[in-house]
Amino acid sequence: MDELEQVADDAPGLVGAVNSLEGLKGVETELIGKNSVISRMRRGLSALDPDDRPTAGARINEVFTGVQVVIADRRRALEIAEENTLLVSDRVDVTVPNHRVTLGTEHLLTTVMDEVSDIFVSLGYRVATGPEVETAWYNFDALNTPSTHPARAESDTLYVDFGDPSDEMLLRTHTSPVQARYMQDHVPPVHVVVPGRVFRADSLDATHSPVFHQVEGLVVDTDITFADLKGTLEYFAKAFFGDGRVIKLIPHFFPFTEPSAEMHVSCFACDGSGCRVCSNSGWIELMGCGMVDPNVFEAVGYDPSAVSGFAFGMGVERLAMVRHGITHIKHFFENDLRVLGQFV
Ligand SMILES: [Zn+2]
Repeated sequence: MDELEQVADDAPGLVGAVNSLEGLKGVETELIGKNSVISRMRRGLSALDPDDRPTAGARINEVFTGVQVVIADRRRALEIAEENTLLVSDRVDVTVPNHRVTLGTEHLLTTVMDEVSDIFVSLGYRVATGPEVETAWYNFDALNTPSTHPARAESDTLYVDFGDPSDEMLLRTHTSPVQARYMQDHVPPVHVVVPGRVFRADSLDATHSPVFHQVEGLVVDTDITFADLKGTLEYFAKAFFGDGRVIKLIPHFFPFTEPSAEMHVSCFACDGSGCRVCSNSGWIELMGCGMVDPNVFEAVGYDPSAVSGFAFGMGVERLAMVRHGITHIKHFFENDLRVLGQFV
């Protein structure tokens, strides 16, 4: 029995000194395993005097249960410690800024250019494109712009020097040369819109940029009249700025159309009563247009006595600035995501 009391005394210290679950298993075997003092004494109970058996048996069980409790407590403590170690080593710092993956979106100019094209495509127009580096013939001569016209000066047009003086090459100043190219390749009727990038020798200010975008339109058929032009542009104004818009056409001059006009649309922001968007006029100037000049038809091989048509051209930046209240054209080209992200 002395041996048993020794176990009872030593057990708490032995168990408490163990620092791992693995080590605890060894101590458990030592204290209550098959070959432990407690197990041996249990097996030896039958050899005792019958009168002593109940007392000895009760004490053995008491010590056994006590050791079990000490071991269970220690196991729980070690398990908690192990879990804490794991949590610390696997810790995720939720305050570290994450790397957000942002998907690319369309630039506002692309959106507006596509939207304009789509309005005309819904009317049955086709989309046509052409080269940005153009010959002076397509950019000017085919469009009835004489060699003395001021727009042809180097102060207005960016020329490209490929070393051959017989090729007068330039960065197209409008999308109109695509009209001439398209008519050369197609017989009437023609219904096309031409979205694209154009270039001029302008310095940057609030409304001008040396690079900008246009959408050009051209319709050629027999019996096309100015009324067709007006109806088409009014349809566009309502589709782009909303129902209720009206337009007015003010006489103007362009070399490639006759008669020519400037198209103004009633202000969408104030409904014509005058506001900041329309400079208090109630009207917003939107584009140039007119009936295709007979000289243009002749240049591309159409018979001006057999066909008639209209053309119009608008600046995409201007459309976007007016509709979205953008006050400087530079915002389109600086690629500041804080600005562009507002129009996604
Ligand atoms: Zn207004």
